[in-house]
Amino acid sequence: MTERTLAIIKPDAVGRHVAGAIMQRIEDEGFQIRAMRRIHLARREAEGFYAVHRERPFFHSLTEFMSSGPAIVLVLEAPDAIRKWRTLMGATDPAKADAGTLRKQFAESIERNATHGSDAADTAAYEIGYFFAGVELI
Ligand code: ATP
Ligand code: MG
Repeated sequence: MTERTLAIIKPDAVGRHVAGAIMQRIEDEGFQIRAMRRIHLARREAEGFYAVHRERPFFHSLTEFMSSGPAIVLVLEAPDAIRKWRTLMGATDPAKADAGTLRKQFAESIERNATHGSDAADTAAYEIGYFFAGVELI
C-alpha cells in the first residue's frame, strides 16, 4: 500500500553538507519526494515536535540540537514508506546501526543522528501536518 512518512534531515547532516547525499539515497531507494522545505526550527517548535519525549532526560539537549541550525523536512511516499524509511535510516544509535544505513554512514552520535522518521501511521499523519498544509501535498 502506498504510504507517506515524514522525514527530517537533521541540523548535524545539513551542517556537514551531506543533505544532498542523503536525498540522492532517498531517490535511489525508490521514494518519491512529495514535499520538501528547509527550515530553522525555533526552540518551541522543536519542543512541540518532540513533545512525546518531554519527560526523557535528553529532551532539553535534543530540542537544543534540533533548533541549532537549518534542517530539511520532507514527505516521502512509497509502498510501506514508514517501515522502509526507518530501515534505511538504521538504529537510533549509529554504533548499533547496520552497515549500509544512513545513520551508520552519516550520524555522529545517538543524538546527532542525521535523520528522523515517523514511527507509525498515526504519528506520520501528525508529523506531516505539523510541517505541511494539505494543499502542498496534492
Ligand atoms: P527519530 O524519532 O528522530 O526518528 P528514533 O525514532 O530512532 O528517532 P526516538 O527514541 O524517537 O528515536 O528518539 C528521538 C531522538 O532523540 C533520536 O533520534 C535522537 O536524536 C534523540 N535521542 C534518542 N535517545 C537518545 C539518548 N539516549 N540520548 C540522546 N539523544 C537521544
Ligand atoms: Mg522516534
